[in-house]
Amino acid sequence: MAALNNILKSITQKNPHEAEYHQAVEEVFESILPVLKKNKTFVDEKLFERICEPERVISFRVCWTDDQGKVQVNKGFRVQMNSALGPYKGGLRFHPSVNQSILKFLAFEQIFKNALTGLPLGAGKGGADFDPKGKSDGEVMRFCQAWMMEAYRHIGHFTDIPAGDIGVGEREIGYLFGTYKKIRNEFQGVLTGKGTDWGGSYLRPEATGYGLIHFAHFMLTEVDDNLGNKTCLVSGAGNVSQFAMEKLLQEGAKVVAFSDSTGFVHDPEGMTEEKLSHLKTVKNGERKSISAFADKYASATFTAKGNKNIWSIPADCAFPCATQNELDVADAKTLRKNGLMLLAEGANMPCTPEAINYFQKSKVLYGPGKASNAGGVAVSGLEMTQNRMGRYWAKIDLEKELRAIMKNIHEKCLETIDKHHLEEQDYLNAANIGAFEKVAKAMLAQGTV
Ligand code: NDP
Repeated sequence: MAALNNILKSITQKNPHEAEYHQAVEEVFESILPVLKKNKTFVDEKLFERICEPERVISFRVCWTDDQGKVQVNKGFRVQMNSALGPYKGGLRFHPSVNQSILKFLAFEQIFKNALTGLPLGAGKGGADFDPKGKSDGEVMRFCQAWMMEAYRHIGHFTDIPAGDIGVGEREIGYLFGTYKKIRNEFQGVLTGKGTDWGGSYLRPEATGYGLIHFAHFMLTEVDDNLGNKTCLVSGAGNVSQFAMEKLLQEGAKVVAFSDSTGFVHDPEGMTEEKLSHLKTVKNGERKSISAFADKYASATFTAKGNKNIWSIPADCAFPCATQNELDVADAKTLRKNGLMLLAEGANMPCTPEAINYFQKSKVLYGPGKASNAGGVAVSGLEMTQNRMGRYWAKIDLEKELRAIMKNIHEKCLETIDKHHLEEQDYLNAANIGAFEKVAKAMLAQGTV
């Protein structure tokens, strides 16, 4: 037991000043500890220590020129975390907060998420501490070109296939893809999230948000309930949030609040298709704060970022879809007091460990991001398949495929709950254990490489 506890201690010591990474590693370690206790080979072969160490971390200078002709310097990264199940796969984040700890936590989570999809995907994550906000299209393009000028030598359609994340959408993927194509003189599926006219897959933009709501649907079905008429909160107003809201509307739920980095909007009358379309214009077209949305609707109130946040609004279901650690234990208690019965994570690690613990103890149905937001990478996996075949599937077929994958992830969680005698609906431990076992076995089979 002491030896097992030392595993975590030594990983923390080896990676100092990486709080987010420690948080992600500790969560998985706590889940799989009972598995390690029963499996001497996993311990002797140091499977957990190996899984925690990235196969490669590439860190590089990104130098570009702004519209004033001034030189700007950013830090670029690609963490190639694990290739036991397939080529490295995971998004790129462009945000001023990006550092090695954040990308390592994201890449680490990606290992387990990708394993749960059942697709042949390894794990990676990357990005830069670049802030696309307030930059012109030309500046964003020159930055993307500069990022790819270094990254191209490390990635490729059978090696490492980045996609989008915070601050990286179809515009950025386009500039990155164009640069890769120019340097390599090859039109290959090196990135996912491309436009559908140039190698992208239908449903990739929708996939994470839609998949999240499918997962919530299956969680509720398990307790003979459904999303119809449920009052919902969706944090964020970006890619994942927008399509989570769209699917919630289709399921007959009522979305009463959403947020962005400037604050939150409360609209007791609920989101409608027309309002959502306006929100997309505000966020994707005009790239403005959601306060501009609230200006248009009498029933909507905008509250600027401060003491009060979106989690203070009473709701049946909550879907954090913005960023890591956006919901703490005080928020969890408020939500529970106000009647919350389900929370499923669209963002990666949006709830603090104390908040998750509180949800689990107070019997709130809790869907961990590794399982519930895996729809995005799953459709990215399908984009890779379509690129390799050179043939593209219809949207309706991809919709069926996405739903089937989310159902399968849910069933895999239930199987793990049964197999490991976990508590009913303990999706947290089920997702961590099920995915760990799969990756660990593949690593064992491939020897100490
Ligand atoms: P976007 O950049 O499209 O949207 C992010 C949203 O979250 C924006 O509304 C942004 O506000 C808000 N936000 C970002 N940082 C903060 C912060 N520190 N405080 C408050 N709000 C913030 O990103 P995505 O929708 O793609 O990603 C959202 C989350 O989902 C991330 O955790 C990501 O890792 C995860 N995820 C994304 C997947 C995908 O397919 N895109 C797949 C799986 C997980 P503002 O508009 O003001 O900047």
